[in-house]
Amino acid sequence: RAKSQGRNTYQFYTEGMQDREVMRLELDKDLSQALANNEFVLFYQPQLDLATGEINSVEALIRWQHPRRGMLAPIEFIPLAEESGRITEIGRWVVLAACRQLAQWRGTPCEQLRVAVNLSGRELDDESLIDHIREALVSENIDPGKLEVELTEEIFIQNIEHNLSQLSRLRELGIQLAIDDFGVGYSSLGYLRDFPVDLLKIDRSFITNVTERHDDAVITRAVINLAHNLGIQVVAEGVETEDQLNFLKAHRCNLAQGYLISRPIPPADLAKALTEGTLFTGQHADSGL
Ligand code: C2E
Ligand code: MG
Ligand code: MG
Ligand code: MG
Repeated sequence: RAKSQGRNTYQFYTEGMQDREVMRLELDKDLSQALANNEFVLFYQPQLDLATGEINSVEALIRWQHPRRGMLAPIEFIPLAEESGRITEIGRWVVLAACRQLAQWRGTPCEQLRVAVNLSGRELDDESLIDHIREALVSENIDPGKLEVELTEEIFIQNIEHNLSQLSRLRELGIQLAIDDFGVGYSSLGYLRDFPVDLLKIDRSFITNVTERHDDAVITRAVINLAHNLGIQVVAEGVETEDQLNFLKAHRCNLAQGYLISRPIPPADLAKALTEGTLFTGQHADSGL
């Protein structure tokens, strides 16, 4: 899925470039300028609480407002930023920007929101990551419970000792931990026992056909039950239809995220949607879409 998307989108950086190394250098140069020129932005995608119909959390998703190429999605630059190590700086920017946003939301209709940020495994390698997160929280005066970190199962495959210690430090700060893209990561389930996990995000690939395919339905129900029996909350990714939403509600999934509720949107649009109550919450037959 990511690969086929990547093939289309990488072309900006492959066109006319001899090889991957040239492309990598070019992109890395642009990325360092992007940081200096403040060209990154965070969009926010709401998560619907299926028990209450409320929006109390959002996922922050990075975009690059490229001076020549327009708005770029993460698939176009995050994988190469991970390879070059530039992701460390980008991650610091993301955490600080999310904390600043939380600070700006005080006293507004977005006040109640928690924000989830994505960190790649490579970012966990950085020993000073936790200090940077703590500093960002302190400088913006943010309750750590307002911040959530999403990590994929890759962190349970390599550097397990180190990653366990990093996650424990994050948890000690009071930050919530979510496993992103759950179910597609080739890792063992043992980490659910060994790591302090608060949320599982069921990968979109299980949700897409959950109402048509028996096997996807069985897997989704099993993940929800497994998580709940371990005291872990469940988020469904990529919810696009009301049928999917109803299935998830019926099986007591905690949160739903996807285009049905909203695409990732700029903070101003989010504030407007929350104020005007225009997000799809499944509460009114005529709302949304
Ligand atoms: P992710 O964390 O799994 O984020 C969910 C992706 O699915 C987002 O793509 C979102 O726009 C998309 N999505 C949400 N709902 C739906 C839906 O109903 N249908 C479909 N087809 N797609 C949906 P996006 O924003 O392009 O991000 C892609 C990935 O890039 C993210 O996957 C995450 O792994 C990575 N990423 C995004 N922001 C950051 C960041 O700040 N740092 C790092 N390290 N990675 C990031
Ligand atoms: Mg995510
Ligand atoms: Mg995900
Ligand atoms: Mg994903």
